[in-house]
Amino acid sequence: MSATQERTAVDAVPTQLFIGGEWRDASGGETLDVEDPSTGEAVASVADATPDDAKAALDACCAVQEEWATHPPRERGEILRRAFEAMTARADELALVMTLEMGKPVAESKAEITYAAEFLRWFSEEAVRIEGRFGTAPNGQGRLITMKQPVGPCYAITPWNFPAAMGTRKIGPAIAAGCTMVIKPAQQTPLSMLALAKILQEAGLPDGVLNVLTSSSSSSVSKPIINDPRLRKLTFTGSTEVGQLLVEQSAPGLLRTSMELGGNAPFLVFPDADVDAAVEGAVIAKMRNIGEACTAANRFHVSGKVADEFAEKLAKKLADMKVGRGTEDGVQVGPLIDASQRDKVAELVEDAAGRGAEVLLGGTKRDGAGYFFDPTVLTDVKPDSRLLKEEIFGPVAPVVGFDDEDAAIAAANDTEFGLVAYVYTSDVKRAFRVCEKLQTGMVGLNQGLVSNAAAPFGGVKHSGFGREGGREGIDEYLSIKYVAMAM
Ligand code: NAP
Repeated sequence: MSATQERTAVDAVPTQLFIGGEWRDASGGETLDVEDPSTGEAVASVADATPDDAKAALDACCAVQEEWATHPPRERGEILRRAFEAMTARADELALVMTLEMGKPVAESKAEITYAAEFLRWFSEEAVRIEGRFGTAPNGQGRLITMKQPVGPCYAITPWNFPAAMGTRKIGPAIAAGCTMVIKPAQQTPLSMLALAKILQEAGLPDGVLNVLTSSSSSSVSKPIINDPRLRKLTFTGSTEVGQLLVEQSAPGLLRTSMELGGNAPFLVFPDADVDAAVEGAVIAKMRNIGEACTAANRFHVSGKVADEFAEKLAKKLADMKVGRGTEDGVQVGPLIDASQRDKVAELVEDAAGRGAEVLLGGTKRDGAGYFFDPTVLTDVKPDSRLLKEEIFGPVAPVVGFDDEDAAIAAANDTEFGLVAYVYTSDVKRAFRVCEKLQTGMVGLNQGLVSNAAAPFGGVKHSGFGREGGREGIDEYLSIKYVAMAM
């Protein structure tokens, strides 16, 4: 990718706040730099919103909520459909912008754009399928009618690791349901969201339905919105720690909340599994997004009968992966998002090695510009190692052996998180048994990827609550009203 192509893609993205259908500077006139994690250099500056801007954004979305709720569902769906088509048509330039602000290889950014756009298409189809029920009261004397109505103005906060998809998973169903929204992307990756807002504006989204705030101070812009009695819903994707704080902040207003939080996914390989297929799945589950995914396989629990074979084959695959700037040809592993994330990964590896783990591959952070960490495989990892308990968020695969099925399930569930687990086995009965016993919201059965716009994504335990995508995703933006009708 040439420097000119990079510049052209970034220059096409608006850098102001998007409030009430207008692009405007922050009221304080401040801006915030967006850094390329592969060089540490600024690629753009965006408006740095103030609490006054936050109030203006909420005002804009409240002003049009009533009208938007009654906007024909077919037209709401058609706006989403046009935005899906525009995202698809512009996938190359959007992917380049994403790589420049987030670091992942361009091919992976493009896959995210496809995935993100799919939520717009999926919910364009759901907009016209919001249905209620009609029934006769058990005593036969009345009728019971239920209807689904938009929740009302929503506030969405998204993380940096999937800068577009974490937005469309919220924006798609909100628009389809007839809700208006203020969205705040992570400060490290605001460009993808601003580009998306422009696409939705061009697709005909009425002014005020979607408003975007970019800010260097997430708490100071979020608090006035969360404390405002007009807000009806808070939807958050990010760390468990911040999710807990936001649930607390949303308690006085008794807001509807959806929380898509951290993970610590176990990847189980049983002795009857196809080991080569498990290794293929492990590469996807571990290395997608440079390991910076809430769904990333965090620990590999492998039957003692095949653990050595699995670890060696995995190390060989990871050793072949090219590390570098995500815009370069053939690169499969980009930089981590910032120095503190890279140093945290290094610390977790040191901790495991210090407790006796063997470093089969990698284990080092790279010197020089950018926040690179080499793909790493650790074996003989001791149970008290921090990286078995904490979200690694990097290209590090700890392999631990297990003796039998009960031990594997116990190890998998030994975490406060419960987002996703991966299971490799060729025994159908075992597959069902294990899937039923895993304390997670999702399971990848003989596959290393679960994300799909047509399926309900979400967790249990400290991974949060609520579902994004699938038939369930729109319900997060709808309230049920029951009408008791006398006959
Ligand atoms: P994070 O630190 O929790 O930040 C997420 C978002 O919350 C960012 O927009 C951030 O803004 C904002 N934020 C931080 N503190 C806040 C506060 N006090 N008030 C209001 N907003 C606040 O998480 P992250 O590091 O960006 O993302 C990684 C985490 O997200 C991981 O734990 C990962 O597992 C999780 N995740 C979960 C899912 C899922 O669907 N379950 C999907 C993707 C990621 P700033 O950028 O300004 O800090």
